[in-house]
Amino acid sequence: MLRRDIAFCAIFLSASFGFIACLSRPYIVLSEPSAPPPANSVASGAADGRRFDIWQDNPEDFYALVGDEPRPGDPVTLILLPVGGGDAARYTALKSVLLDTNGKRLGGASFFDWTLDDEGHKVKVSVFAAPSTYSGGGALVRVEGMLGVLTEFGLKLGERSFVSEEIPLNQSNTALRTVPDPKKTAESELLWSIITHTGDVVYTAGPFTPPVAADTRRTSLFGARRVYRYSNGRSDTAVHAGIDYGVPVGTPVKACGAGRVALARGRIVTGNSVVIEHLPGVYSIYYHLDRIIVEEYAFVNEGDVIGLSGMTGLATGPHLHWELRAAAENTDPDTLCTQAILDYDAAKKIVNERGVEVYAELSR
Ligand SMILES: [Zn+2]
Repeated sequence: MLRRDIAFCAIFLSASFGFIACLSRPYIVLSEPSAPPPANSVASGAADGRRFDIWQDNPEDFYALVGDEPRPGDPVTLILLPVGGGDAARYTALKSVLLDTNGKRLGGASFFDWTLDDEGHKVKVSVFAAPSTYSGGGALVRVEGMLGVLTEFGLKLGERSFVSEEIPLNQSNTALRTVPDPKKTAESELLWSIITHTGDVVYTAGPFTPPVAADTRRTSLFGARRVYRYSNGRSDTAVHAGIDYGVPVGTPVKACGAGRVALARGRIVTGNSVVIEHLPGVYSIYYHLDRIIVEEYAFVNEGDVIGLSGMTGLATGPHLHWELRAAAENTDPDTLCTQAILDYDAAKKIVNERGVEVYAELSR
């Protein structure tokens, strides 16, 4: 029995290697680089207006598209360019993993294929976020493939501080947060299964537009360190995952970008809730709606009204909670409203600057 399993395993492995060998044609072909990458640099492109950095340790292969030095809570878009030809293992990249300086996992995301133009030229991309709770500064990005670790490189995170706030909860709101309920658990599990899923459709590349007027008063900020004061005298801490806008009940709430409605239903803690998938692993979330207007699985365009704001679920007053997730991590909405997650022009510029030609072969 055991021997048969081993034999089966060997067949499977050789089949896999055969598959990889089939892919040994590089899908990005290196010509003479038009300009060498900056030596040993985490070269911020911000100074000359470029929207990307070339990361140290592996400048031949990896690029991250970021606005500036990413801070805790900011998204990081990692583009994998297998240049130099022939290193088939690179094409097996499955996911990026973000680690702290002690090797503890902070986050990470699956890679997906990003089509750069009408001719079907593709690169591999993963979009993840540095947790807003991480203040370590230095981090490590590990790229893993089906055969193990492909490479690692350093990622320097900027510094950032967040506000603190205290929220007293009355008896019913205290109960919403503290009383165990299998329905709450099931709702959490469903939401988690949605936001941890990396699809394969890019509905929008960003940037996003706020779901209500951008100058609306904010009653709570992204990353706020919260202390909930319960009616029974106890307390608990949490980090605010999004932005709260102080809007009156009935204010139209608009989709922040094109996408597909992944969830639209009432939840015990967050009230009437909508989740929209925008691109692989990137979701926007809208809570406490008075009314939901869209249906699950519907496609929406940026600016479509998806509901009316309210104060359903755990809310101490009328407001809209708006949240963005990249690979399940809370991500700063303000950053995602000012920079594209996938910047076509910058990506093509990288390809051109590295002197590579994109070969129209798919990587799978
Ligand atoms: Zn909120």
